[in-house]
Amino acid sequence: MKAHNRSSQTIRDYDNKYYMHPWEGMDSFGQADRTISASAEGIYVYDEHGNRLIDGPGGMWCTQIGYGRRDMADAIADQVMRLSYHSPWNTASEPPAVLAKKLADLAPGGLNNVFFTTGGSTAVDTAIRYMHFYNNRLGRPNKKTVISRDKAYHGSTFLSASVTGRDRGKNFLDVDRERVHLLPDVNPLIRPEGMSLDDWCAAKVKDLEDAIVALGPDSVGAFIAEPILASGGVIIPPNGYHKGCMEVCRKYDVLYISDEVVTGFGRLGHWFASKDVFDIEPDMITCAKGLTSGYLPLGACLINDRIVDPISGPDQEGVMFNNGYTYSGHPVACAAALKNIEIMETEKILEHVREISPYFLERLHSLRDEPMVGDTRGIGLVGCVQGKVTGDGDSYALDQQFGAKVDEKCEEMGLIVRPMANMCVFSPPLIITKTQIDDMFDILREAIRQVAREFP
Ligand code: PLP
Repeated sequence: MKAHNRSSQTIRDYDNKYYMHPWEGMDSFGQADRTISASAEGIYVYDEHGNRLIDGPGGMWCTQIGYGRRDMADAIADQVMRLSYHSPWNTASEPPAVLAKKLADLAPGGLNNVFFTTGGSTAVDTAIRYMHFYNNRLGRPNKKTVISRDKAYHGSTFLSASVTGRDRGKNFLDVDRERVHLLPDVNPLIRPEGMSLDDWCAAKVKDLEDAIVALGPDSVGAFIAEPILASGGVIIPPNGYHKGCMEVCRKYDVLYISDEVVTGFGRLGHWFASKDVFDIEPDMITCAKGLTSGYLPLGACLINDRIVDPISGPDQEGVMFNNGYTYSGHPVACAAALKNIEIMETEKILEHVREISPYFLERLHSLRDEPMVGDTRGIGLVGCVQGKVTGDGDSYALDQQFGAKVDEKCEEMGLIVRPMANMCVFSPPLIITKTQIDDMFDILREAIRQVAREFP
């Protein structure tokens, strides 16, 4: 099937000549040989040659209900014909109002105030800007430092990139670290030999408390954390970590921002992982991606009554939270999100994730018997296979290509994976069935074996 009837060669030429891709490698700029995705349905993407590939990473962690749903297309088209845009500043419309109520109902406790954004990065920006606003309004203008973590990914705008702990590209793109403090890696795998997980958890919570004390509680405004470090390599913190961090935040009056851009909307079997998986009620939750299952761009920052009530009301005349986007609460994107949530409810997709994820994890962990595999880890429908780091020098360099090499082999056999250095990451559409999970891991195992044969 040809995309919009142009030849693959024309698409590739235009793509190379005019389209500057996100995270573009400048070495191959203008001459990349990208596969062209032509169409998609369910969990499958079809390339320009008609090859069918399982969408292992779920797009970019976002294609929860799968591709090509007629009911999504109808809901989007209906809204386009009814009201394709409205100014979010001084008028209201049905889709964002109903979606805001729905999100408040689905979110834990007092997270009842929904600020719509264009995606995850702008949701994180909004959370940080709200923290600035909150502390300025409370007369504590110095309480602005954000504590984040090594390997965290929070986005690509200047502010969200500044609180991102992953260092990719930092050599060439500036960020503002002046009011950012990064905590060390929480990965339980790197804990000292013999240390229990409980002790590791206590040590990691202490890292946060020590940082707040060292920086001075009067200067620390927020702690931001993904429930699991997703793009940082699917790092799952030890049990009790988030709860411990939440208690520390409360103790020092530091806002807790839970970045659920990946974990929200069913990825871990719940609408939001903060409460249902990690037992915390954050001050703010950021979400995007699965909110519309990737059908249209939309993000949201949910803000707790606890930090809205003290600075809102008739006595706040002339005060404005001066933050917003032309497309905040875009009616078509909100209509898509509402339909997406309705589908997830009526088709019991969260229940399906809870039911099927033990099997997904069993198949994932069964790969540990492959000599090339150093670690497997996962939770819900997120998984990571890490190649074995064998040492230094050339063998280490080869290990770093594990992800790319496995990806290459998988794609030849009909599976897309997300390669990251010595890791392959999976977050398939949540509608994946047991048979499709088998297909996925059968291909992956075969690909790992083929790569193993090629490694010296
Ligand atoms: N936060 C997290 C945890 C993410 O994984 C991402 C994107 O992968 C973002 C924020 C940024 O979201 P977006 O790419 O929609 O701006």
